[in-house]
Amino acid sequence: MAALSPDDLQAILTEIAASMAEAEDRGTVATYIPELADVDPARFAIAVALPDGTTLSAGDADVPFSIQSISKVFMLAIALGRLGDQLWARVGREPSGHAFNSILQLEHENGIPRNPFVNAGAIAVTDAVLAGHQPRDVLAELLHFVRLAAGDDAIHIDKAVAASEQATAHRNMALAEFMAAHGNLRHPAALVIGTYVHQCALEMTVTQLARAGRFLVGAPGCPKLVSTARIRRINALMLTCGHYDSSGDFAYRVGLPGKSGVGGGILVIAPGRASIAVWSPGLTAQGNSRLGTEAMEWLVRRTGWSVFG
Ligand code: GLN
Repeated sequence: MAALSPDDLQAILTEIAASMAEAEDRGTVATYIPELADVDPARFAIAVALPDGTTLSAGDADVPFSIQSISKVFMLAIALGRLGDQLWARVGREPSGHAFNSILQLEHENGIPRNPFVNAGAIAVTDAVLAGHQPRDVLAELLHFVRLAAGDDAIHIDKAVAASEQATAHRNMALAEFMAAHGNLRHPAALVIGTYVHQCALEMTVTQLARAGRFLVGAPGCPKLVSTARIRRINALMLTCGHYDSSGDFAYRVGLPGKSGVGGGILVIAPGRASIAVWSPGLTAQGNSRLGTEAMEWLVRRTGWSVFG
């Protein structure tokens, strides 16, 4: 396929947003975090950030949303920078085939979570980053990383969302305590979960999120925050584990590494080409953005950006 001009890309994004505005089956907004239950399911936004920094968007691209589990990508990059391959003693690298907040597999596998993108795995990653640091330092480092990646100091954590999740974090507390029982948690569960819910409460627009993902594109012009080998590996984990028990389906339909969050956002990397963020709050039963996935399928069909050609 011939290279697309920014105008071609803009036309594709406009066409996708117009079509998604008409969609009737929008999925269901997450309600288990009370603060997220009020988000308008009619919202839709998509943004593409190119290696040279050009960012194109359509829809509600100026409306911030809770990135939730997409934060796990940024925290993983920080953890790998801090611990390197030692991290893999505490968390696996296999797709789970189970729900994002499942406790079942953790019991079978003696407190070692399958991968860093299911909740248990992300909680272990946050616990690892906390070693020798206070929660506020870890959150400050995360904000610094994301702001640097996006080139945008306005990015912040929504404290109301964090408090709302903290008040109802029984399942995540159970996962943390279960790992503690197996010696796979170094800090008190409440401290780790307190940090984790704040990381998940990072708030961004699709434009900010697409820009923040450019460090994973691995092309000249992109911010160089991690090594090339690490970019390759984080992308591999996003492709195989980024959508929980529909990671295979996302790979089949979109053919690009992606990480979803229950706020309805998805960060997708087209290696060497672009970082893409999409947001539609309605979710599938597996907790992934229904229209966000459809929009990505559409974008890839029109751009030919799948890593599989
Ligand atoms: N903070 C959310 C939770 O732990 C993140 C889950 C998600 O986005 N899939 O439940």
